[in-house]
Amino acid sequence: MDLTETSDERAFRLEARQWLAANRPDLPMLSGDTAQGFVVNRDWERRLFDGGWAVVSWPEEYGGRGASLWEWLIFEEEYYAAGLPQRVAQNGIFLLAPTIFEFGTAEQRERILRRMAAVEDLWCQGWSEPDAGSDLAGIKSRAVRDDAAGGWRLTGQKTWTTRGAFCTHLFGLFRTDPAAERHRGMTYFLVDLAAPGVTVRSVDKLDGDAGFAEVFFEEAFVPDRDVLGGVNQGWNVAMATTGSERGLSLRSPGRFKAVVDRLVELYRHQEAAGLIVDPSLRGEVAECWMEAEAYRLATEMTVTGLAGGARMGAESSLNKVWWSEMDIHLHDTALALLGPDADLEGAWLKGYQFALAGPIYAGTNEIQRNVIAERLLGLPRR
Ligand SMILES: Cc1cc2nc3c(=O)[nH]c(=O)nc-3n(C[C@H](O)[C@H](O)[C@H](O)COP(=O)(O)OP(=O)(O)OC[C@H]3O[C@@H](n4cnc5c(N)ncnc54)[C@H](O)[C@@H]3O)c2cc1C
Repeated sequence: MDLTETSDERAFRLEARQWLAANRPDLPMLSGDTAQGFVVNRDWERRLFDGGWAVVSWPEEYGGRGASLWEWLIFEEEYYAAGLPQRVAQNGIFLLAPTIFEFGTAEQRERILRRMAAVEDLWCQGWSEPDAGSDLAGIKSRAVRDDAAGGWRLTGQKTWTTRGAFCTHLFGLFRTDPAAERHRGMTYFLVDLAAPGVTVRSVDKLDGDAGFAEVFFEEAFVPDRDVLGGVNQGWNVAMATTGSERGLSLRSPGRFKAVVDRLVELYRHQEAAGLIVDPSLRGEVAECWMEAEAYRLATEMTVTGLAGGARMGAESSLNKVWWSEMDIHLHDTALALLGPDADLEGAWLKGYQFALAGPIYAGTNEIQRNVIAERLLGLPRR
């Protein structure tokens, strides 16, 4: 593992920093999980695209700049250090896009990726159902072949669809062979949410933002060209998406480095003001800093492996447990530093509420621990 930044990488960092400083919107931005905030965030992400910074590691033909994974990490670090929010396009650019690069046809890549990067189409993830979350293979929503129309008719319900109320498209799993073994009879579809037969209903989150949706399908038509990775191959394709969700792309170390830097600043401020009641918090802040730094180094190790042709596989579950528990620790420590001064509308409390969801979304941490136990440690299932 080579931790030194090359002169090209240094130049890339400075270029990103300068562009972000010159183009950054007014902060803080409205939450991307509200109707109004979503539009503000989308416009900002469009500006990123126009500047060539929306998807730096993608090939130029799809709106990227062909940057290496190392450079992508650098960009993420600069992006979060500038105080910018997580992307409303994230489920498309970080989850679906790597899956399209791996399984999509040339026609799908041409048709979908550039529009996704330019936030012309915004994608949400339609996997969970009222009776199928951890047990994803238990989904009941189905797709029935319509030969005459050259496609499929979708029927069923998806739930907890992040930003589904504001997105234009959904990538979802539907059962296509009810007779097949649970993991084998499903297909991965790319669905236009404006199609007749699709109803999206927003669901408020605990923090009051309308960030979730339920999506209902009543014989909604999807043409054959919107099957990703082959009929009845949905499970394999979905596992590639979860690899991105839990592994490298959704939660880069730059995001946590920015939070921990703010935490250190907060500690200094509270200490100077004589507001630290519990002296053990000093050690806690140092722990947080070390966790974020270790996560950065572990990610660099992963990137070194990936650059050498390795695949992440079940290790992505370790990663997911790490970032989700670390996020809670960082925010919990900040709230302890603030004590009764914590602003109920402030960024730390909002961040804490979101961090609490980390061990649930992207597959619960109990499920990740099962994967780690069985597939990495080789422990028996029972
Ligand atoms: C903020 C947030 C955003 C989300 N966004 C999306 C989205 O965009 N798209 C989408 O499709 N879904 C989304 N989800 C849903 C998420 O994927 C599910 O909540 C998650 O998979 C758990 O499913 P469940 O809620 O049905 O809980 P359940 O599966 O019913 O689990 C309940 C509890 O039982 C435990 N459990 C279940 N099975 C086992 C087992 N075998 N071993 C040990 N423990 C077990 C779980 O860990 C959990 O603690 C989101 C969730 C949250 C909180």
